[in-house]
Amino acid sequence: MIEDKPTRTELSELGEFGLINHLASFARSENSSTLKGIGDDAAVIDCGDKAMVITTDLLVEGVHFDLSYMPFKHLGYKAVVVNLSDVYAMNAIPTQITVSLAMSNRFPLETMEELYQGIRMACDMYGVDLIGGDTSSSKHGLMISVTAVGFAPKEDIVYRSGAKENDLICVTGDLGAAYMGLQLLEREKQIFLENPEIQPDLEGNDYILERQLKPEAGKATILKLKELGIKPTAMIDVSDGLSSDLLHICDKSKVGCAIYSEKIPVDHLTYTVAESFNLDPTTCALNGGEDYELLFTISQADFEKIKDFKGISVIGHITNAESGKMFITNSNQAIELTAQGWNAMN
Ligand code: ADP
Ligand code: MG
Repeated sequence: MIEDKPTRTELSELGEFGLINHLASFARSENSSTLKGIGDDAAVIDCGDKAMVITTDLLVEGVHFDLSYMPFKHLGYKAVVVNLSDVYAMNAIPTQITVSLAMSNRFPLETMEELYQGIRMACDMYGVDLIGGDTSSSKHGLMISVTAVGFAPKEDIVYRSGAKENDLICVTGDLGAAYMGLQLLEREKQIFLENPEIQPDLEGNDYILERQLKPEAGKATILKLKELGIKPTAMIDVSDGLSSDLLHICDKSKVGCAIYSEKIPVDHLTYTVAESFNLDPTTCALNGGEDYELLFTISQADFEKIKDFKGISVIGHITNAESGKMFITNSNQAIELTAQGWNAMN
């Protein structure tokens, strides 16, 4: 008798989002207090008048950060900020974090102190409390996982799923800078490895380096939107790249979109450095990750309220699902938007 071979499916066949969707099929929601489980920037839990949001992110040495150019203080700061970004993306205000660490014995106490100085700086900057965590040794390298909690009145929570046809698509700040910062750091690292005599040449590039090494979360935007009396219809933070994250809004909202190349905000320095790498700046803005800007949709009626606000760009509009998810080039060609966003599993 021929025995059935056990099946073996490579994770790379599913990709990060395919895997998450598959794992989500093992989750169940038994408690009526679970307002939102897997599938948004944070889970949402009913707390009476208020909702609590909770989100977690894991950073792994060699995958998400490289200690040859990432100072520990910045790493601590960034590990907190990337989680707060997900809390703001739900239109909530972060209040507490926990921090879990696994580290090999190659790290002395002093580096852990630096890491925690960075964590403390982020806590001070965003007004959140470090309330716990877990500590373990690891065989190789450093892993840091932060969980962030935040609150909002229940009716203020904004999901990825609320975008409606004709809504305007808005993004804060500028895009692609963190990706270009990373390219620069990687290039200088390679040059250094090949010839340790050569000192890294990073001068004049502070803005994009800072965007990579010390990103900020969308606190100012959330406070501004509240002040202007705007509740976005859908929102996500740009962590994987504009196209990938906009596609999440479209998929969850069951809508299409049209965004315009000429409207995508790219900083001057990002532009020039991208060109020096022979990269198309718009492609970097579409697909580069780790901007931690907020991408949101608003109803057209709210346009008047934001039109004079400098930190927000309207980059397109939501269409019906049948119209597809389109990127309109400067020469007015419509191209299907694809998620080449960076995949932290690769
Ligand atoms: P973000 O980029 O906003 O941090 P992710 O893409 O990491 O979001 O996650 C998307 C959703 O999948 C979130 O709801 C997250 O909680 C959930 N998720 C991610 N990994 C897992 C996992 N291993 N098990 C269960 N849920 C997960
Ligand atoms: Mg997110």
